[in-house]
Amino acid sequence: MMLLRQFNNRVALSSCNRRVICGKYGRLSKDHVPPQGSITVTKVEQVHLTEVFGLNANPVKGIPSTNGSKFRTICRECNMTALGENDGEIADVCKALTRQINHFFRAANSPTSHVYTPLNAVKYCRAMIGHILAATSVNECRREPCEAPYFTPLQQFVLGDDHALEDTHDIYYWFFPHKHHQSIKIFRMVNEGNECSMSILSFFPLAFLLTEKGKGIYPAGAVKLELSDKSLFVDLSALNIDFSTFPAVELKGNQFLLMAGSMSILSYPIT
Ligand SMILES: [Zn+2]
Repeated sequence: MMLLRQFNNRVALSSCNRRVICGKYGRLSKDHVPPQGSITVTKVEQVHLTEVFGLNANPVKGIPSTNGSKFRTICRECNMTALGENDGEIADVCKALTRQINHFFRAANSPTSHVYTPLNAVKYCRAMIGHILAATSVNECRREPCEAPYFTPLQQFVLGDDHALEDTHDIYYWFFPHKHHQSIKIFRMVNEGNECSMSILSFFPLAFLLTEKGKGIYPAGAVKLELSDKSLFVDLSALNIDFSTFPAVELKGNQFLLMAGSMSILSYPIT
């Protein structure tokens, strides 16, 4: 009886939270980032990028999870529809590319360093952007949702408006040959007086970057993805390998970036 009351109490408390994709009140549901099906879900540790990155980084022990990196920030409906109906596209892309990448690195005399896979870009981006929105602290669910020029079009796109990003965002991708995963819901890059807000979700074999439209700030080696594209071409050459993991730039001269710890997650498999 006592246990039941405590459980009900917990449900009541969580219903005060806003879900980060649709903005409605309700019980929160867990989202795996990276999504299940596109990676082998293993034991991982999670840290904030701000804890391990930069001059004053203190080595910290990560927070362990036995089955991947999870965020309880979205509702069941968004989890089942916006993400659940499109996650298969991410899984298909990852599997097709991984197969070809394995083949490329085994075959010593491949004539080209590119791999290729067909894709449904809208489905792929809808799921990737949904996971970017979900990968944040539950504290964000306690705030009143508001219109935001950067996030509102992303939410509308994830909820089904195929044209929501036309005037607001560009999308880029590149080869990400690493075991760790990175997700940053928003960061701001300043490059010689140009500024741009961006989001990133990276896990093998691709880094996926959202930027404000037309700002022209993206790393060397990044390829622009249009929602009308029918395929992905990924360059496996080592030319830009130093710029494959965040921050993907040297940060020299008048270059810097701003980010919030709770929205900047690094997770890595542990044994
Ligand atoms: Zn929702």
